[in-house]
Amino acid sequence: MKPRVLALGAGFGGLELATVLSERLGDSIDVTLIDKADAFVFGYSKLDMMFGRTTPDAIRLRYSELAKPGVRFVQETITAIDPETKTVTTDGGTYETDELVIALGADYDYDATPGLAEANEFYSPEGAEHLRDALPAFTKGRAIVGVCGAPFKCPPAPSECALMLHDYLVERGVRDDCEIVLVMPFTKPIPPSPDASDALLEAFDEREIAFVAQRKVASLDGDRRVAVLDDGSELEYEMFFGVPVHRAPRVVRDSGLADGDWVPADTSTLQTRYAGVYAVGDVATLGIPKAGMFAEGEARALAHAIAARIEGAEPPRPYDGTASCYIEFGAGRVGRVDVDFLSAARPMGAYHRASTALVADKQEFGASRRARWFGLR
Ligand SMILES: Cc1cc2nc3c(=O)[nH]c(=O)nc-3n(C[C@H](O)[C@H](O)[C@H](O)COP(=O)(O)OP(=O)(O)OC[C@H]3O[C@@H](n4cnc5c(N)ncnc54)[C@H](O)[C@@H]3O)c2cc1C
Repeated sequence: MKPRVLALGAGFGGLELATVLSERLGDSIDVTLIDKADAFVFGYSKLDMMFGRTTPDAIRLRYSELAKPGVRFVQETITAIDPETKTVTTDGGTYETDELVIALGADYDYDATPGLAEANEFYSPEGAEHLRDALPAFTKGRAIVGVCGAPFKCPPAPSECALMLHDYLVERGVRDDCEIVLVMPFTKPIPPSPDASDALLEAFDEREIAFVAQRKVASLDGDRRVAVLDDGSELEYEMFFGVPVHRAPRVVRDSGLADGDWVPADTSTLQTRYAGVYAVGDVATLGIPKAGMFAEGEARALAHAIAARIEGAEPPRPYDGTASCYIEFGAGRVGRVDVDFLSAARPMGAYHRASTALVADKQEFGASRRARWFGLR
């Protein structure tokens, strides 16, 4: 019988894991990749779609395009995970495996922020699409980009949203009649990278974007159009761009794998407290930010470790906690932070100034994943 790997979730983590295993082991392994969705969407594509740079259909990378030796994609919803027996139940059947990889990402808990369900958020494709439709009517008043809880995916994304909103309003000739306020629970936009944070704060200053540090949005009063912050202060708004509270999906929290909201895993082996059961990406607590580039790096390291075990080869180097993240600065420029979360005494983020050259870099990043994961050129 071929060695079996069951990967739950076909996002950054699941896609990279399946790709590396297929590249290394081809048909000699049996990888099953399960996701409830029929397509993958890059997180940053939601911002592009929201501000009219692309369409919902263009950003969907359909799993039906996946064709990799040794890999079978199944579109089903996972309803139960038993980490003791490595058995997974879905709405379509039951799966047993030798190695189980949890890559189910983060879910949004709208109920944790009273009023948010009736307001707008931009972290789901549906929320971003809704905001895209609502934006043309926004011509005056205050827009709040408001984070409702931490940790949240892609720490730069709220700053990117504020800067892209500025460009959008300038292009429409209504920026002078609008105010942009960014509410974040950190002291600076990207705490591990003081240089990137300074560059973002400078960009906010230049564009008159107000940055409210160390605050979360606790609730929204839709009737009064007021956001209530966690210190009780209130901010009126015309448009709200929310970042919801995140938690591991319910099926994971019910499985016994989680400790509180997330799944603890060993930072170098990515193993949970169950032998042969691993967690990568946003679902895991590894002391590393929740971003696609980290999920991908963790999955790559894990796939090489699994492949090496199966081949009886030397184990590879453990996961090193490094990744590069792109930051949209607006005005046709992109910056980059090269983050190192594990090897230094403190997390470090080396910042590369925003430029037009890095726009091409970011495009190449997306294109290379489309090609590697989906065979799309
Ligand atoms: C607006 C925005 C901008 C972003 N920008 C960037 C960026 O520029 N760079 C970057 O690196 N990251 C960015 N991110 C973050 C990035 O998208 C996530 O960190 C990344 O997708 C995490 O990968 P993952 O594999 O852990 O989970 P995901 O990619 O979220 O994949 C999890 C998968 O599990 C599936 N799933 C969940 N529950 C079930 C179930 N019960 N049954 C079956 N399937 C299930 C989901 O459908 C999903 O496909 C951004 C995110 C947002 C929201």
